[in-house]
Amino acid sequence: MILSGTVLVDSSTIMENSAVIVSDSEITALGERDSILSQYPDHNEHSYDILMPGLVGSHIHSVQSLGRGMSDDQELLDWLFDYVLPMESTLTADEMEVAARLGYLELIETGTTTVIDHLSVSHAERAFEAAGDMGIRGILGKVLMDQRSPDGLLEETEAALSETEELIKQYHGAFDDRIRYAVTPRFAVSCSEACLRGARELADAYDGVRIHTHASENHGEIETVEADTGKRNIHWLHEVGLTGEDVVLAHCVWTDESERELLAETGTHVTHCPSSNMKLASGVAPIVDYLDRNINVALGNDGPPCNNTLDPFTEMKQASTLQKVDQLDPTVAPVETIFEMATINGANAAGFDRVGKLKPGWRADIVGLSTDTTRATPLHDVLSFIVFAARGEDVQFTMVDGNVLMENGDVVVADADSVRESAATVAESLDLSEARAQAQEQKP
Ligand SMILES: [Zn+2]
Repeated sequence: MILSGTVLVDSSTIMENSAVIVSDSEITALGERDSILSQYPDHNEHSYDILMPGLVGSHIHSVQSLGRGMSDDQELLDWLFDYVLPMESTLTADEMEVAARLGYLELIETGTTTVIDHLSVSHAERAFEAAGDMGIRGILGKVLMDQRSPDGLLEETEAALSETEELIKQYHGAFDDRIRYAVTPRFAVSCSEACLRGARELADAYDGVRIHTHASENHGEIETVEADTGKRNIHWLHEVGLTGEDVVLAHCVWTDESERELLAETGTHVTHCPSSNMKLASGVAPIVDYLDRNINVALGNDGPPCNNTLDPFTEMKQASTLQKVDQLDPTVAPVETIFEMATINGANAAGFDRVGKLKPGWRADIVGLSTDTTRATPLHDVLSFIVFAARGEDVQFTMVDGNVLMENGDVVVADADSVRESAATVAESLDLSEARAQAQEQKP
């Protein structure tokens, strides 16, 4: 297949009137359009205004999609214990799959090709199957919760870890290696020391398995960990093995100097989720400082109950503008940096090589955008448009590993209407009252 248009190779290279050749799962050639067309006369040409690397959603909760709009304007603990945890504990296996499919549909529609996806405690296999079936790339994991958790989510440590190991055996490297495993403790508050150390052991036992958890999102969490362990959260995570080049920590809003040094020294990846941090009033993560320390910072939407969309373009704009207003300096978090966070930094965090740029020999994870809109006119600067003006609906084409997932604005790997219809039906039928009453007993 020939894909032609203005090609955004990476944050520093933009090639107008160009084309890429996709053969099987890879980009095999990139060059000036006329030259590519004459070299490959028997390939079909598909043209889009802008072609760019697929975006990486480095902290996503696909299975929380049914909670979109259910819990706005809430305190974090009310949000979690009155809505999100009761919802997760209530969903049946079929409903979990409906939720995951809705999440992946939105991601594919809006240009995300790789996810780091924090699932739920139960029925994780249904999300793995949905992700594999719909063709997205990602590292996914069943959530671990073995303390301070409501019934329906609380598990025995050994049972939780052994189910994780079964899922690793089943899905790590599945679907042509598009799907890999991340061991995902929810956060230190809801996981015992044995659980956290067990997560590290599993990641060490299976090549390429990563660890993904929430860390230092808000003050209550940090105080609880400190009361439990006598340590700052990142120091505690480090002590039990949850730092390092195979670890992705979501948020890291509240870290002190010694914790930041530790993140940098250990090569731990950080995912910034600006919409979630703003909506839940968690605070402003020190992203400019992290980047100055050469910490790899990626970008994520978090879940629909705290965002309320999985559109990655929203996140790029929020990431830049939030740092600017926080630092009172409009020169920080420039478009190039933000685009790298949303592409190559995310791919590095997820551990996928040859993902995040459009170059020969790299995997064919490509999105195509239309600029036939008022918000794209005039188009002084392609990267500026992508970070500050574009929206998910500008994405017309999504390809992962050389497979077309959406073409001319139509998702081809799922019946979008029926996914939305099922999701609306399940969401309407949800009754959280019993689970909510149970969750209250564990609310700190
Ligand atoms: Zn999250």
